[in-house]
Amino acid sequence: MAEVADVVVIGGGCSGSSIGWQLASRGAGRVVLLEKTAIAAGATGRSSAVVRTHYTHPALAQMSLAALRVFENFAEVVGGDAGFHRAGLLVLLGPEDAEAVAANVAMHREIGIDACVLSLAELHQLEPRLSVEGIGAVAWEPRSGYADPVLAAASFAEAGRRLGVDQRIGVTAHALIVGTRGIQRVETDGGSIETRTVVVAAGYRTRELLKSTGFDLPLQPIRHTIAIVQRSTGFGAPHAIISDRVSGAYFRPEGTELTLVGASSPLDGTEDEAVEIDRSPAPADEAALVRRFCARFPREERASLRRGYTGVYDCTPDLQPVLGPVPGIDGLHVAAGFSGHGFKLSPITGELIAQQIVDGRAMLVDLGLFSPGRFAAQRLISSTHAYSVATHG
Ligand SMILES: Cc1cc2nc3c(=O)[nH]c(=O)nc-3n(C[C@H](O)[C@H](O)[C@H](O)COP(=O)(O)OP(=O)(O)OC[C@H]3O[C@@H](n4cnc5c(N)ncnc54)[C@H](O)[C@@H]3O)c2cc1C
Repeated sequence: MAEVADVVVIGGGCSGSSIGWQLASRGAGRVVLLEKTAIAAGATGRSSAVVRTHYTHPALAQMSLAALRVFENFAEVVGGDAGFHRAGLLVLLGPEDAEAVAANVAMHREIGIDACVLSLAELHQLEPRLSVEGIGAVAWEPRSGYADPVLAAASFAEAGRRLGVDQRIGVTAHALIVGTRGIQRVETDGGSIETRTVVVAAGYRTRELLKSTGFDLPLQPIRHTIAIVQRSTGFGAPHAIISDRVSGAYFRPEGTELTLVGASSPLDGTEDEAVEIDRSPAPADEAALVRRFCARFPREERASLRRGYTGVYDCTPDLQPVLGPVPGIDGLHVAAGFSGHGFKLSPITGELIAQQIVDGRAMLVDLGLFSPGRFAAQRLISSTHAYSVATHG
């Protein structure tokens, strides 16, 4: 006899693990989570795990604030640890974006985010080691920080297991079978599972899984390089997280001596379908990132490259996530296309998807905004006060 589940979640990254936990905590019944490799084996395990609330769209700002609150109270809310470390976040933009920064920070404050605009003099006071070259607008968020992505996903998974989520590690979903009443079955390399509800949270591989139902989700795999920079011995206390949209890089402290440097534009990488392969970065890409760090911290000419690695973003045409039901296929839901900013959202991703499935509606935001159908309907997400540089909000 075929196995039966109330909900099958495909993917054990931070999104799928959070969804499994939230479904179980809302009494969704028998929840099976399929992960082909290991918890956090995909983009999650490569994530810089910056947790910020600076977004140009109010829905994303609200979602990231709700998620930040979970990271701040992780042991109490989820159980276990996410390694969250408050470091503060500076967002640097050019003078052409000054009005947009002011409008977005005003929107953030209205939502309840602790944020303010800084003058260049205030920026210098906060971080005197920084060059202000090209900077015309600055936002500051003292509560933002970074976490440990593998620990966070493992904690979501463990919280789910405690509530009865049946986690199948090493099992690959091959196809989703759809009948006249919607989703019917998931075919896996460990047999088939009858179900009326499936959530696909398989990162870039979500695209091919949905293809088996005839639905085309436009996802583009963009491989990014992260350079780990060893700061010079005289640097002093670690810097805040810096989203330097002027030079197109972000600088995220790691421990007391290192800085992770990555590109701030989600499309500033190389298209690569082989997302599972662990590729070494090109030396020229690493060197370019180190140069951006040294240019922003001019006294850091002695900073050196410790090592580098790569990881792949699953990018959508509007660089915003895809969350919620697939139009025309009852019971099929998606949580993918995070375009390089899905870690910070993962606690709220789980909550929104579980609310949609169990209660029929997500509470915090209207999931219609993030619908998988928005690309075909040409309803891309855009912000009133978007910046002049390509970012994910
Ligand atoms: C280099 C890098 C830096 C980043 N920095 C940040 C950051 O600072 N802040 C931030 O918020 N976000 C960041 N991100 C983005 C963030 O890490 C991702 O958006 C997030 O981890 C996506 O999680 P996920 O669970 O949706 O996907 P994934 O982590 O990719 O998980 C998908 C899982 O599905 C499994 N899977 C795939 N196909 C199948 C199948 N057929 N059957 C079963 N299992 C399957 C995979 O093995 C994988 O474990 C970064 C990403 C990268 C690559």
